[in-house]
Amino acid sequence: MNSFSIIYCSLLMLLYDVGASCPNIISRQNWGATPPKSQKNLRTNPPPFVVIHHSETPACQSLQACKQRIRNIQYDHMTNRGWADIGYNFLIGGDGNIYEGRGWGIHGSHVPKYNSKSIGICLIGDFQRISPPNSQLNLLKQLIECGKDNGKIVSGYHLIGHRQGKPTNCPGDALYEEVKKMTNWDPNPN
Ligand SMILES: [Zn+2]
Repeated sequence: MNSFSIIYCSLLMLLYDVGASCPNIISRQNWGATPPKSQKNLRTNPPPFVVIHHSETPACQSLQACKQRIRNIQYDHMTNRGWADIGYNFLIGGDGNIYEGRGWGIHGSHVPKYNSKSIGICLIGDFQRISPPNSQLNLLKQLIECGKDNGKIVSGYHLIGHRQGKPTNCPGDALYEEVKKMTNWDPNPN
């Protein structure tokens, strides 16, 4: 193997490493998002917290159903609650897809105490009594790993459920039990 081949192979391996941990994310344009009324960056970026939510709606199982559900959530957040945009940074459907909400690095509206220093991720469905399927939980883990590997979340991040930042049932009892089993869950967040 000559030196050119060695450099070429090393470059390919590097590219593979960087891309390998990131799942596909469906863009705002692809799900038909309304543009935000305003937008600001996280105050602490990369953020030290990841906050987990459920949508407290029926689950969605197809691309079309999930896109429609997310457009409905965005409408609710912008029109009924008067927020600048859909509240979450990302959403994960039961269809096996991750959807871009506000995205990386952007200040969210999902739990006041942590909005300026966290990434808010919503699993679509009502997970009070039943847990999300493993496929949906695995996507959540992949998304967090992707953020960590690419400097979008601090490597020693604190994982919390919405209810740890505010009195609420979110992310549902069953999903919260799953969150508590995950790496980096913090039982006593600041
Ligand atoms: Zn929530």
